[in-house]
Amino acid sequence: MIRNERGLLLVISGPSGVGKGTICKELESPDTILSVSATTRQPREGEEHGKNYFFYDKETFENMIAEDQLMEWAEYCGNYYGTPRAFVEDMLNQGKNVILEIEVQGAMKIKQKHPEGVYIFILPPSLQELKKRIEGRGTETPEAIESRMAQVTRELSYGSEYQYYVENDLVENAVSKIRAIMEAENAKVARCTAELL
Ligand code: ADP
Ligand code: 5GP
Repeated sequence: MIRNERGLLLVISGPSGVGKGTICKELESPDTILSVSATTRQPREGEEHGKNYFFYDKETFENMIAEDQLMEWAEYCGNYYGTPRAFVEDMLNQGKNVILEIEVQGAMKIKQKHPEGVYIFILPPSLQELKKRIEGRGTETPEAIESRMAQVTRELSYGSEYQYYVENDLVENAVSKIRAIMEAENAKVARCTAELL
């Protein structure tokens, strides 16, 4: 019998609009939990506090940094984003896989402390398709779209720091590739105990 005592810490990054949120929602299951980040950005229509993000003002976020409540945090397009530590550690200790859907600077901070994590970078089929998706989502102003598109080259330059590239051509393809990665990672001897009863 093969057992994983601890869940996988999955870190998923990629440019805005590539489909990270869509893919992560599909990966969510009783065994695979999405971490809910804290942010100072304004909620989009339909987003809920505690579900999509914990929406805080700048002062509250800065207090969380000062009190070391965040595993990592970063500034992206003028707002703070960060991962509350306690929830992630609790889920991993319970043997759940935890997904952090975070931008590249935060991912690099996690990588320094968690070499055992699984680092996945999502790519769009093309730059044109990326722009189409972010515009099609209809949640950002033209200025915010420009600001996000201006990050893409910098973000791509971090790609080589990750362990897996996954192209999001079709959502179901990207999801099944990530499921395959999770299965292979969970089968690694270093992550398992095996016993015959
Ligand atoms: P991100 O979380 O990376 O910013 P989203 O998951 O919000 O991106 O996706 C951005 C937009 O692209 C959404 O409108 C979503 O429905 C759409 N989308 C996601 N994946 C695909 C895909 N494979 N093909 C076409 N559209 C997609
Ligand atoms: P959005 O505003 O589109 O929801 O997110 C903007 C960027 O912030 C995305 O690249 C997203 O992955 C990233 N992000 C979301 N939560 C966190 C977090 O907790 N930490 C970091 N570093 N980035 C985050």
